[in-house]
Amino acid sequence: MSSAFKLPYGLRRENGEEKLLHISEIEALESGLKCNCLCSNCGARLQAKLPKTKKDFKPRVAHHNADTCAFATETAIHLKAKEIIEKEKTTDWSQCHGFL
Ligand SMILES: [Zn+2]
Repeated sequence: MSSAFKLPYGLRRENGEEKLLHISEIEALESGLKCNCLCSNCGARLQAKLPKTKKDFKPRVAHHNADTCAFATETAIHLKAKEIIEKEKTTDWSQCHGFL
């Protein structure tokens, strides 16, 4: 089963900590497997799909050499929501504009 939503987040280990990165936080030089991200649901390697022009397609991360798992997007958004609630101590979703 694939999600109708494109996966917007990848999990990256930086300085010994895992960080959930939004596709907008991935630099152009980190396109493809260079993004060094994993799926937050199944742990598979992800590749950043960054368009060369604005009208190519919507930027996203996608599973590399694996089918998209059913709950990749749901798990990533769940983890991001928990991160925002933990950091901001609020459930004011207006500050999430552009990230969900
Ligand atoms: Zn996955």
